[in-house]
Amino acid sequence: MASDGANPAILRLAVPVPLRRLFDYLPPEGIDLSTLSPGQRLWVPFGGRKLVAVLVDMVPESPLAQLKPALELIDSAPVFDGCCRDFLHWAADYYQAPVGELYAAALPAALRKGKPADHWAEQWLQLTTEGKGLPETALSRAPKQQALLQLLLERGRQSRTQLKALDHSTATIRALQDRGLVEWIAGPTVPPAIPAAEATAPPELNEEQRQVLDAIPVDRFSASLLEGTTGSGKTEVYLRLMEQVLTGGKQALLLVPEIGLTPQTLRRIAARFPDRSIAALHSGLAEGERAQAWLSAAAGQADIVIGTRSAILTPLPRLGAVIVDEEHDGSFKQQDGVRYSARDLAMVLGRNAGVPVLLGSATPSLESLHNALSGRYQHLRLRQRAGNARPPQIHLVPTLGQQLEEGFAPQVLRHIGETLARGEQALVFINRRGFAPALTCDDCGWLADCPHCSSKLTMHRRQRQLRCHHCDYRRSLVDSCPQCHSRSLSALGGGTERSEELLARRFADYPVIRVDRDTTASKQALDRLLAPARDGKPCLLLGTQMLAKGHHLPRVTLVVIQDADGGLFSADFRAPERTGQLLEQVAGRAGRGDLPGRVLVQSRYPEHPLLQLLLEKGYGPFARQLLRDRAVAQLPPLRAMALVRAECEEPRWAEEFLETARTQMQALAPPSPQLSYLGPVPALLERKSGRFRFYVQITAEKRGQLQPLLARLCQWAEGNRNRRLRWAVDMDAQEL
Ligand code: ADP
Ligand code: ZN
Ligand code: ZN
Repeated sequence: MASDGANPAILRLAVPVPLRRLFDYLPPEGIDLSTLSPGQRLWVPFGGRKLVAVLVDMVPESPLAQLKPALELIDSAPVFDGCCRDFLHWAADYYQAPVGELYAAALPAALRKGKPADHWAEQWLQLTTEGKGLPETALSRAPKQQALLQLLLERGRQSRTQLKALDHSTATIRALQDRGLVEWIAGPTVPPAIPAAEATAPPELNEEQRQVLDAIPVDRFSASLLEGTTGSGKTEVYLRLMEQVLTGGKQALLLVPEIGLTPQTLRRIAARFPDRSIAALHSGLAEGERAQAWLSAAAGQADIVIGTRSAILTPLPRLGAVIVDEEHDGSFKQQDGVRYSARDLAMVLGRNAGVPVLLGSATPSLESLHNALSGRYQHLRLRQRAGNARPPQIHLVPTLGQQLEEGFAPQVLRHIGETLARGEQALVFINRRGFAPALTCDDCGWLADCPHCSSKLTMHRRQRQLRCHHCDYRRSLVDSCPQCHSRSLSALGGGTERSEELLARRFADYPVIRVDRDTTASKQALDRLLAPARDGKPCLLLGTQMLAKGHHLPRVTLVVIQDADGGLFSADFRAPERTGQLLEQVAGRAGRGDLPGRVLVQSRYPEHPLLQLLLEKGYGPFARQLLRDRAVAQLPPLRAMALVRAECEEPRWAEEFLETARTQMQALAPPSPQLSYLGPVPALLERKSGRFRFYVQITAEKRGQLQPLLARLCQWAEGNRNRRLRWAVDMDAQEL
């Protein structure tokens, strides 16, 4: 991308607009060109607006006449380094995304809005040459100054914030300054502090963990999948790998699912690395704090960067390893805007930087498992639970023909009671929040539908509301049928709220803790809610998949899965995979401590072969069977798949758009045994927020066959002038 002209006075910029190209501008008026370099942000005029753009290149001339000048330079130094810029451009090509939108996705909100990075610059105290040359005991008569000097000698320069946290007074610093031993310099920001758990000595690695760690050299790129059941010590392996990376003077990037970035996780990592600078990038931070954390990572100041999906787009100039925890988790794939997969991009980043990439999961995605089984990834396993924990016993409870009480079989309720009576904890998993997923009239059959989506409204009894879980439409609960005015309304099916009512009544002597999106507005709230459970007192936990991950609750000995059937009969070919992952993850909550665990799985179809396979043999054989099914059906990961999506209030327009899109693509590459087209077909949720949604699906033997097709399609579709129609290309789509 370097330019070789004599006078590179044209700025080539990535502008956050939905067009797949860069834009040329003149430099801001009167600016000294030597202050400009790629990676800086500038304000530019665009279509009557003022936007934050990123300088990508400086070139001597532009094919366009009449360029406008950029308005103002924002950063005194680049915020994106060259590696990160190359990476973002690669991702833009791969996902057929506008590169300006990728830069915007990479930036934290405050920087996206144009706040100067210098706002967060830190003052750093460092030793002068004289200070470095001082004999060790020179200041022994001024112990405070001696202590500060020692700190700077041992740990290098310290920021003003760090010095304050360590109680070094301004007077001490001034005294050393007066002696000419230390000096202040301006430098990068430090991330906001993370409260650490009490430091504990790391456990001795077991033989399997040792082997896994030995298989990952830190000095070059390698791709590994670590398959290990819950509690087998994967996190311990991550921590050791991070330690090696940090010792080598590099940064470690740890990606976690949205649900997994809990204060508990952060405390565990902070406790292990008390002397290290840790930047956590998550939605719980205030805008300013998030920018601060991001800039400390981008400046190479932060040693450890922990974040959810978008953290993969952060510049990391000293990157030493990328670890993706719970790599199967759906939240790593962005579902709107630039539809990138952070897990897949992790591989690209690791290859670019020449560092190891480790994907870990108890229930690997079929994509990663396929890569491991075909030898593209190194397949690492942890087969035993670490420490004393034993694998739980799993039992199927058939529910068809049983007298259920709010969805629970009598023997299940009995087991819950016995568990609590023994002073242990039980966890009940229910995959729906709210009181009931539908409300109906017994007399005329009226059903409460969402007026904007093709879905039913969920009844939330406590708030006396009916809510759409797809578009968040809300209305107050009705007492009578709006159609026939009958007062005989029934709530169909079960949800967390409904089960909570029953369980709280049945087990009134014990705390019943409900965990779902309605009870936990924030990660901190979840942490607080679970505090009594962590204390180890007998209690009953009940909730949605939020309970399935990340929480180490050693006193849980019984796990109940209220309904295992939902995902087995879905129209989405990925549904069985997700169901298997969820069941295995929930089951993995049982018996994490010294006590043995038991899992009860309720099902109407206990003889379903996939369910049998999952419960008898575990997720591994189950997933391998699903892979064979996918091969027969010619579906991912055995084939590459992309969707072209369109949505519109007027369904006909979306369909017509996609018909033409398909014709365009077929003109370039007709259907063949290597390349097939499907659609336009309606999305699984056909109408959402008032718009009808359709897609065309393209599957190919190789990813490379899809790229030119999609590039051509985007070229054509960018000319679409129908402002009410939205379209998108979804490479490696995860949702139908
Ligand atoms: P995972 O990430 O696979 O669920 P963790 O790393 O969280 O597993 O380990 C589960 C529990 O076992 C934790 O409490 C952890 O401290 C402990 N543990 C991990 N490795 C060892 C080991 N080698 N020896 C003893 N305990 C261990
Ligand atoms: Zn009615
Ligand atoms: Zn809706």
